[in-house]
Amino acid sequence: MQAMVLRAAGSPLERSEVPVPPAAADQVLLRVECCAVCRTDLHVVDGELRHPKLPLIPGHQVVGIDESSNTRLGVPWLGWTCGVCSYCRSGRENLCDQAKFTGYTLDGGYAQYAVADRRFCFAVPDTYSAEEAAPLLCAGLIGFRAWRMIGDAARIGFYGFGSAAQILAQIARADGREVFAFTRDGDLAAQQFAREMGAAWAGGSGTPPPEPLDAAILFAPDGTLVVTALRNLVKGGTVVCAGIHMSDIPSFPYELLWNERTIRSVANLTRADGEQFFGRIASLHIDTRRTVYPLADANEALADLRSGKLMGTAVLAVS
Ligand SMILES: [Zn+2]
Ligand SMILES: [Zn+2]
Repeated sequence: MQAMVLRAAGSPLERSEVPVPPAAADQVLLRVECCAVCRTDLHVVDGELRHPKLPLIPGHQVVGIDESSNTRLGVPWLGWTCGVCSYCRSGRENLCDQAKFTGYTLDGGYAQYAVADRRFCFAVPDTYSAEEAAPLLCAGLIGFRAWRMIGDAARIGFYGFGSAAQILAQIARADGREVFAFTRDGDLAAQQFAREMGAAWAGGSGTPPPEPLDAAILFAPDGTLVVTALRNLVKGGTVVCAGIHMSDIPSFPYELLWNERTIRSVANLTRADGEQFFGRIASLHIDTRRTVYPLADANEALADLRSGKLMGTAVLAVS
C-alpha cells in the first residue's frame, strides 16, 4: 500500500510502498478513505513529542471502511489502554500509563490501509461523509472534552481558531453561548473565518475582549497566552489548555490566579467522551471548513498548518 512514513523526527514524510498491516485479534483492517491532519501530527513530525514509534505512519483522525462488515468507522487518538490500572478503572482511561496513541505510538491513517483496535473505534454517523467526519475524530472529540471542562460558562474565549475551535463554535452557538475568538495579532483572515463560523467577536490575542470571559480554551501552543487569558477572566473563571504541547508559561503575579481562577490541561480522550460528543452533535450538522489534499501531499498539508496559512482543517483524501 501507499503510505506517508516518518523515518526520523524533523524530516519530511517519505512516500513509501509498505505491506498492508495484518489485523491482530481485536483489530479491524480499514480501507482508509480520509485522514484529517491535527496540530499534534506536527508536534510528532517536528520532534516536539518525544519517542514516537519509528518508522511511523502518522494520522489519528482516520475514517475508513471495515471491509469485513462494510461499515464506516472512525479511529481516534486513543488507540489502546490497559484496562486494569487505577486510571482505567476510575473512568480516566485518557490518563492510562500504558495507553497507546494512533499516529504516535501506533501507526495511523496517512496510508491506504490501517489497523485499529475495534474497541476504540467509533461508528461514523450516517449523516456525515468521510471527509466531513474526519475532523470530528480529534478536533471534535478532544475539543469536546475541553468544552466539558468549562461547565456552563456563557462567554468563552478561544485562543487559536483552527480545527477544534470551528467545531466548538457551532456547538456554542447551538447552546446560546458566546464565543470570543483570538487569533494572531493582525490575522484578519482568521478573524473573518471565526466570525463566519459563529464567533460573536474576533480580534488579535493582544486585544482585550469587549467583555470579561467566563472561561477560555487555548488551542494555540503558546504558553504566554495562558497569562493573557487569565487577565481576561472573571473571578472563578477557568483557562483550559487543550493542546498536547505548549511553550513555557511565563511567571505571572498571583493576583491573576487569585479569586478561584483555575488553569488546567486536557489530555487525550476517553471512549465515553466520544459517545457524549456524537450524542451531542446528533441533532446538529457540524459544518467544517476543509482543505483537501491527496495523500501524497501530506507534507504540504503539514507545512500549511505550520505556517498558519490554512483556514479550518486539512484533510488527506486517500480513496
Ligand atoms: Zn490503564
Ligand atoms: Zn489530534
